[in-house]
Amino acid sequence: MFIDTHAHLTMPEFKDIDIYLLRAKNAGIEAIVNASFDLDSSIGSVDLAKRFNEIYAAVAIHPHDADLVDDKMIAAIKDLAAEQKVVAIGETGLDYYRNLKPAEVQQRAFRVFLRLAQELDKPVIIHCRDAQDDTIKIMKEENRGALRGVFHCFAGDEALVRFAEEISFYISFTGNVTFKKAHEVRENAARTPITKMLLETDCPYLAPDPFRGKTNEPAYIPYIASEIAKIKNISVEELAAATTRNARALFNI
Ligand SMILES: [Zn+2]
Ligand SMILES: [Zn+2]
Repeated sequence: MFIDTHAHLTMPEFKDIDIYLLRAKNAGIEAIVNASFDLDSSIGSVDLAKRFNEIYAAVAIHPHDADLVDDKMIAAIKDLAAEQKVVAIGETGLDYYRNLKPAEVQQRAFRVFLRLAQELDKPVIIHCRDAQDDTIKIMKEENRGALRGVFHCFAGDEALVRFAEEISFYISFTGNVTFKKAHEVRENAARTPITKMLLETDCPYLAPDPFRGKTNEPAYIPYIASEIAKIKNISVEELAAATTRNARALFNI
């Protein structure tokens, strides 16, 4: 059995959610953590978690919308975080690749959510793209000793793997580990101990081969798992057991 630790089921692609949840169940997905990126998706995630047993929610504002993070927004996210089955703050972080908002604005919002996660004693789901040095610097500055969480859709290098190990963070891999040219992602999977590894789809994005370019969904987790099991030279069952145990420990589900 698997846990998809990062999905976006509030997206319009999943309008017929029952079909996707049935397919996920049939593929052995026993729980899904639905990550949010703005206030609407945070509200939507909490709503999905209320309606469906197997769904848990994470709430926050994505770095792409970091300019929306003011006192009123922080209060709204904090209220949502107090709802049942909200298991994490996320996604938050820095994205200098698409760089939709100025770096200082992204950094300010990132600090807000790192503080909030620790205040609420919840793990944080970190999105980091082309922003590794600032991510590490800010996490070091904001860590009051209670910081825990995961680097989702891991796109760092060896230094970030080492930093994750230092602060006991998890590292999560998605469908891009199956892409032909994703050598660095596979190297990172090889470097990451299975005791610190999580699986995610980040659906509807990043469908694994052989569905690349199509709508991703939680039912595709086994394709990601089988690629990583090959890299680790272990059975899919062993990888599933380890990553599910990790997800349950981190998100307390
Ligand atoms: Zn992300
Ligand atoms: Zn995401």
